[in-house]
Amino acid sequence: MSILSAPKNLTRNVLIGMMLGVLIGSIFYYEVILIPKIIFDFFWMYIFSLGSSIFKNLLMLVVVPLVFFSLVSGISSLSNMVKLGSIATKTIGLYLFTTGLAVSTALIFGWALNLSDYDPDTLATIAEENAESSVSVVAEGLRDTVLSIFPNNIFGAFIENNMLGIVFISILFGIALNLTDELTDGLSKSFERLNIVFLKIVLLIMSLAPVGVFCLMGAYVMEYGLNIFGDLAQYVIILIFVLLFHLLVTYSVLLKLFANLNPIVFFKKMRNVALFAFSTSSSAATIPVTLKTVTDDLGVKKDVSSFVVPVGATINMDGTAIMQGLATMFIASTVFVDLSLAQYAQIVFLAIITSIGTAAVPSAGTVTLALILGSVGLPLDAIGLILAVDRILDMIRTSVNVCGDAAVSCIVAKSENDLDEQIFYK
Ligand code: ASP
Repeated sequence: MSILSAPKNLTRNVLIGMMLGVLIGSIFYYEVILIPKIIFDFFWMYIFSLGSSIFKNLLMLVVVPLVFFSLVSGISSLSNMVKLGSIATKTIGLYLFTTGLAVSTALIFGWALNLSDYDPDTLATIAEENAESSVSVVAEGLRDTVLSIFPNNIFGAFIENNMLGIVFISILFGIALNLTDELTDGLSKSFERLNIVFLKIVLLIMSLAPVGVFCLMGAYVMEYGLNIFGDLAQYVIILIFVLLFHLLVTYSVLLKLFANLNPIVFFKKMRNVALFAFSTSSSAATIPVTLKTVTDDLGVKKDVSSFVVPVGATINMDGTAIMQGLATMFIASTVFVDLSLAQYAQIVFLAIITSIGTAAVPSAGTVTLALILGSVGLPLDAIGLILAVDRILDMIRTSVNVCGDAAVSCIVAKSENDLDEQIFYK
């Protein structure tokens, strides 16, 4: 076993941890047996709650240095800058395209399955009342997102976990290092070595994943129980259906069409990444695992993966866009507002833009949903309607988000001749 290979039987052990967490969490939530309060409190405070927070902290701990070192070492080792331009253009183009596709699919399914069924006699005027104040909110949100790409303080960006800013600084640093390699006496090699050290830290943390996932799932079930559908069955079922459709059908078609790759192999290798995303609900916390899988198991060369994965985790959120599209339709129907065709187009556009600005952490998509609701004139407090079911939906959409990043990595790598198909099919 090489120094940098994943812990043995990781998927199996993570699944066992997940199931045990659900089981024990349910025993507590439903009080299947009489449990003394002191044991109940102990489990909640010191096992589930503390354990899951420690595990998430450990993952987040390595994200910033890993993104920085992998981007810097990837870019500084590129043979020429034209290649970086080509990788960046394809990556960003594909990310915008897949997110547009995701939200459009969501709206089409929502419409076909009658999610927006409303009573025309009770059309409310809520839309007009809310519309005015919201335009400036959206414009401000967009302006702040663009501005956050260009921080005025390097260390500030790192301390504040400003991912867009960190990606920008890393790219700039990588380019400068690449251009000055002769003068800096191979400094770029040192960054490659540091990158290896952080990869090893990731592997050490991953060996704790079964316990971490046990705590995450236990905390979730102990707090919310298993009644994930609540009263919103129609919304939840359509949303899960569209998420799975995008994951299994859209990505399969894209992988086959643009890269002629076997989607089944892709999904098999993505199991761990999807499980991590599911249990952490955070694309950012999953970056270490995505990066490792995309490079070591899917055969994407480091030149491409070091750029495409962190950028994707930051700006590409297809699952989130799907939720935002359907949630907007659902909320519109519950407050009896009829959305016009122009408003549907606006939702598509805004979902693409907000997915760039949505932080890759739990529930962030629900916060940026407010921007979309506001812009089409729907009441923001209607978000409360969907909050009850958002935890489980966040888990599923985060898995879709990270699979999208990996699929685009494979497509870009293939087009750049940077995909080792022997590794992909191994
Ligand atoms: N949790 C999601 C992610 O990290 C973002 C969201 O939709 O809330 O990708």
